[in-house]
Amino acid sequence: MESCDILVVGEGIAGCTAALAANAQGASLLVIEKAPQNVPHANTAFSGGSFRRISQAYPAEKFYQDMIGLSGGKADPDLTKIMVEESRNARDWLTTLGVPWTSKSRDPGAADQVEGQGKSLAEILRRAVAARNIKILHETEAYSLILASEEIRGAWIKTTGGNSERVKSFVDRSRRQSSQFDL
Ligand SMILES: Cc1cc2nc3c(=O)[nH]c(=O)nc-3n(C[C@H](O)[C@H](O)[C@H](O)COP(=O)(O)OP(=O)(O)OC[C@H]3O[C@@H](n4cnc5c(N)ncnc54)[C@H](O)[C@@H]3O)c2cc1C
Repeated sequence: MESCDILVVGEGIAGCTAALAANAQGASLLVIEKAPQNVPHANTAFSGGSFRRISQAYPAEKFYQDMIGLSGGKADPDLTKIMVEESRNARDWLTTLGVPWTSKSRDPGAADQVEGQGKSLAEILRRAVAARNIKILHETEAYSLILASEEIRGAWIKTTGGNSERVKSFVDRSRRQSSQFDL
């Protein structure tokens, strides 16, 4: 029997950073990843590991317009603004996790690149999650979300062995308190 506040699906950069942020806020959580642990997986591990961020040469307005333009105008304006404004802090936060950069300066140009590219980035993020004793279940897939009143309230998950379980209730944001789920 397991219980936690937040279920994170996927062990790429989105899942790992979400898990680290939720852990820093004191939430109990579980990460599930459909791939086996010891094989390269996720786009993050195959990426170039380049991160755009604002600098004197690449002002916030230009970064914002590039993102909106690349998405054909579909990027969420508020989230894009946060992403742009926090881009330097994101680099600094990744540095605290031990991410090495090919350039020590965070000012020139429009992007930083991780030494060792995505392979190194993915390994460092996973190590950071493991170091905080956040539980990860590999070979475990979320295959259906449970909706209630247009909110995600849970998920069906299955393991490689074919066992299927219902994960009950994510954080109930409407009541601003956690509802637990059991595995
Ligand atoms: C060749 C290449 C180069 C790139 N270079 C760059 C770059 O330089 N800079 C940049 O910003 N972006 C780059 N990208 C894009 C970047 O890699 C992705 O945007 C980013 O890694 C996505 O992160 P993620 O965590 O959302 O997804 P992923 O890293 O793909 O992680 C998702 C994880 O979720 C798991 N998963 C999926 N569905 C389920 C499920 N139902 N249940 C359980 N687990 C599940 C997957 O197995 C995977 O491990 C590149 C992409 C590629 C392919």
